Amino acid sequence: MSLQGKTAIITGSNSGIGLGIAHELAKAGASVVINSFTDREEDHEIATEIEKQHGVAARYIQADMSKGDQCRALIEKAGGCDILVNNAGIQHVAPIDEFPAEKWDAIIAINMSSAFHTTAAALPVMRERGWGRVVNIASAHGLTASPFKSAYIAAKHGVVGLTKTTALETAQEPITCNAICPGYVLTPLVESQIPDTMKEYNMTRDEVVKNVMLTRQPSKEFATVEQMGGTAVFLCSDAAAQITGTTISVDGGWTAL
Ligand code: NAD
Repeated sequence: MSLQGKTAIITGSNSGIGLGIAHELAKAGASVVINSFTDREEDHEIATEIEKQHGVAARYIQADMSKGDQCRALIEKAGGCDILVNNAGIQHVAPIDEFPAEKWDAIIAINMSSAFHTTAAALPVMRERGWGRVVNIASAHGLTASPFKSAYIAAKHGVVGLTKTTALETAQEPITCNAICPGYVLTPLVESQIPDTMKEYNMTRDEVVKNVMLTRQPSKEFATVEQMGGTAVFLCSDAAAQITGTTISVDGGWTAL
């Protein structure tokens, strides 16, 4: 599978799943755009490292995915977009009646609305170039629910809905849109949930991992960022040209339960 000549923009890709996907797309030959809102020296170094490792062009573009205009500007600044991976995401864990309204707003903006803005800006570019792939990183929580994650679950279900609509609007073009639904992947986002969940359930770290996180993942293993990247590369392949408007679960059997 060669993605040579394609430009991939991966939102929220200075860490975790986004970074894993950027590496796999670069390994397959795509030029990549790394994004976060932080603009630190180490963010730019990630792009340099990808160039060195995979021999493709890579650069870092700062944009805050909580702001619609910055989402759209990211696509414009990239100067091309064949593959768009909507990955940026945050989490907050609290019961609905204690859930801070500003956390709700931020999660809906970053995890869901950003995908609307980037897709709106990217589709005309893809149409002009005659090919496109939109890969939305939803979640097993885009298909099922858990307590205390109201905003995240609402946003991820929304992303699955947006995926279907994007697919229908592009169905007769060489553009596809699908959502990857990961189960638990051990990334900084998951690490950061452990202390709150320990408090919520009065458990040790080990108990949270085994009895809360992986309890619904029948494989009893975390999925990996490389597996997310491999799935994204597959969705960009010719074999996946007729796969559109659907979800691919990479969750160790979670959604089969
Ligand atoms: P992570 O915390 O490692 O990565 C999140 C990324 O989003 C980072 O690159 C961060 O810089 C970026 N980001 C956050 N706020 C941003 C903003 N305002 N503007 C631009 N970028 C911003 O987490 P992760 O686990 O790699 O999560 C990546 C995606 O995968 C998220 O959408 C998450 O919901 C989804 N997901 C993760 C898991 C998991 O178990 N890790 C499971 C299912 C879905």
